[in-house]
Amino acid sequence: MRLFTATLATETNTFSPLPTSLAAYRELVFFRPCEHPDDAPRMCTAPLFVARRRAAAEGFTLIEGSCFAASPAGTTNRRDYEFMRDEILGQLKEAMPVDAVILGLHGAMIAHGYDDVEGDILERVRGIVGPDATIGVELDPHCHLTLKRFRNADIIVLYKEFPHTDVVDRAEDLLTLVLRKLRGEIRPVMSLYDCRQISSYPTTLPVMRAFVDRIKAMEGKDGILSISVVHCFPYADVPELSGRILVVADGDKAKADALATKLGEEFVSMRGKTTPQYYGVEDGIAAALAVGEGPVVVAEPPDNAGGGAPSDNTNILRHLIETNVENAAVGPVWDPIAVRLCFDAGEGAEFPLRFGGKTAPTSGQPIDATVRVTALARDCWQGFGPTRVPLGDCAAVRVGGVDVVLITKRTQALGLELFSNLGIDPRQRRILVVKSTNHFMGAFGPIAKKVIYVESGGPLNRDYRKIPYTRVTRPIWPLDEETRPGLIA
Ligand SMILES: [Zn+2]
Repeated sequence: MRLFTATLATETNTFSPLPTSLAAYRELVFFRPCEHPDDAPRMCTAPLFVARRRAAAEGFTLIEGSCFAASPAGTTNRRDYEFMRDEILGQLKEAMPVDAVILGLHGAMIAHGYDDVEGDILERVRGIVGPDATIGVELDPHCHLTLKRFRNADIIVLYKEFPHTDVVDRAEDLLTLVLRKLRGEIRPVMSLYDCRQISSYPTTLPVMRAFVDRIKAMEGKDGILSISVVHCFPYADVPELSGRILVVADGDKAKADALATKLGEEFVSMRGKTTPQYYGVEDGIAAALAVGEGPVVVAEPPDNAGGGAPSDNTNILRHLIETNVENAAVGPVWDPIAVRLCFDAGEGAEFPLRFGGKTAPTSGQPIDATVRVTALARDCWQGFGPTRVPLGDCAAVRVGGVDVVLITKRTQALGLELFSNLGIDPRQRRILVVKSTNHFMGAFGPIAKKVIYVESGGPLNRDYRKIPYTRVTRPIWPLDEETRPGLIA
């Protein structure tokens, strides 16, 4: 058996002020065949990572294509997308004949001229391998699961957890299903239910936790091979933005239809019950201080780089400084220029620094303060479950009682290393402000005395009714009260 694998991934916020070019891919994941490190997958490269490990024992030959991934930001340049896509498709043509293709995609990538990048890739891959080869795809639940993708893939598996701690587990599931199909043990058929809703579904909160646990218990029994919950990615103005339910059954389409419908109706009934309470900046910090002992983790989803935000909004930080809060730490603030200035000033230096508040009006105003450079570190990393995410060169600066982690490679707060790389022990802080929607919970949840979510004024508005969509198919909740959910494929 011959399997081909590759990755092309980013999450596109069509409202983001940050354009995405090849440079953003070079900064995060840009591996040509066989260059992918063995230590850990880089999120969307999990299919390659697990296939490489299992090839010998399972008796297949793995042909590795390129892996490209960029941090979430604005729409990818057309020329750069076509360059990466055509490189992978060229590698696939060279690799032919293949029995299967397994792709690590994100599912919410948009390029200029391509609303549905993953659909475009899958359609072209199908064109190369023909109708009999098996195409398996792993996607992020923050994806747009379009009909074009559905029609051109045999098996689609999404991560179930948010925070996405199960990227490797789901890649294992995908590979197992693809191999079983190739061996003639199963005949996967898929059904898709469109819930017509936009929302957020952290699996660390009770309603969604229970739903995912129940779904996991259904898999592998009674002819049900896999179930995925499409959360959708709200910050994209594309027609097929919507929460959906995908069921993969063994040969029985009617059974897949029935379960997708049942779970889809249940997912619709969960509207409004899956998101945490949000505080304003002042109320959120007051609530954090009221806890007494730390660390209290104050999450800032509106400035989550993982959703395409710049990660340089200063509203919470300014409030902490102005109200003389002690023993607080804030991170990450993306400001490569400030990091450069800190390196030039040197560790221990005190100097006037302007930082944060740069990229867009939603970044707020920059902070101007005399800071002390408490630590500098080159080429840092943070862990995220079984994967590794680069931070680039980092600097820690202290303003009053607040330590701020400045980074050069824009990403959200994921691992405790974000702080500990720079000698800041997150367990010893009274308040930890993390720019992240919910991925921070993997590492910071276990050490938090309490978690408080703050609507800071950053660019990712949590009230989806305020997002200026023009192309999303209506009706959809919560933009519309009356919707028409149903089975679509
Ligand atoms: Zn995601």
